[in-house]
Amino acid sequence: MLLQKEREMIVEYGKKMSSSGLSKGTSGNISIFDAETGYMAISPSGIGYFETMPEDVVIMDLEGNIIDGIRKPSSEHDLHTVFYKNKPDARAVVHTHSNFCTTFACLNMPLQAVHYVIGGAGAATVPCAEYATFGSRELAENAIKACGKSKAVLLANHGLVTCGPNLGKAFGLAVNMEFIAEMQWRGMAVGKPVVLSDEEMDHVMDEFKSYGQVSKDAPKKEAGSY
Ligand code: 13P
Ligand code: ZN
Repeated sequence: MLLQKEREMIVEYGKKMSSSGLSKGTSGNISIFDAETGYMAISPSGIGYFETMPEDVVIMDLEGNIIDGIRKPSSEHDLHTVFYKNKPDARAVVHTHSNFCTTFACLNMPLQAVHYVIGGAGAATVPCAEYATFGSRELAENAIKACGKSKAVLLANHGLVTCGPNLGKAFGLAVNMEFIAEMQWRGMAVGKPVVLSDEEMDHVMDEFKSYGQVSKDAPKKEAGSY
């Protein structure tokens, strides 16, 4: 089966996304981009994550053509391809309707540096893109326009999108963005959260470059976040 390993990873991370509470029901979607073939493996539309099998994952090119698969692809395939077309390092995209990120998306408010882990997005602020209907090309265009250098962006009245150099990182970033949104929400419930300065966030992002197991001799792992 074409892109078998990628299909299996999409199934595995779909289950993680569901069991971690980041996605309820069939909300959200996941893709992996294979630079060698130029194809994207993407979750099917409207199938529960625990029911999805590797053969349900759809293989598409970045022009929206189905290359292989028996299912209808995620309605957000344009939202995924726009990241691969515009962010040369992106190899995976995760979209969720996680509770706290979606709360700020419903307020059309960005996520701010209320906690240093926001730096994992590669920006001190995670913007909120202008509203457009789910599954529309306009939504994809609004998302990439608002995103700038960030690897995460909120979708107004909808949810969150993250990208990364692999699925582990894109997923880890979605987990961390949900943490940031929860801290921002909790902080705002009690008072006015203190936002870290851009200078400090530049320093944090610099430190992230050497965070964790960075030795080139260490066995490779599917890294989680940052
Ligand atoms: P799909 O089931 O088509 O991937 O749609 C879920 C979703 O989150 C739409 O925005
Ligand atoms: Zn959605």
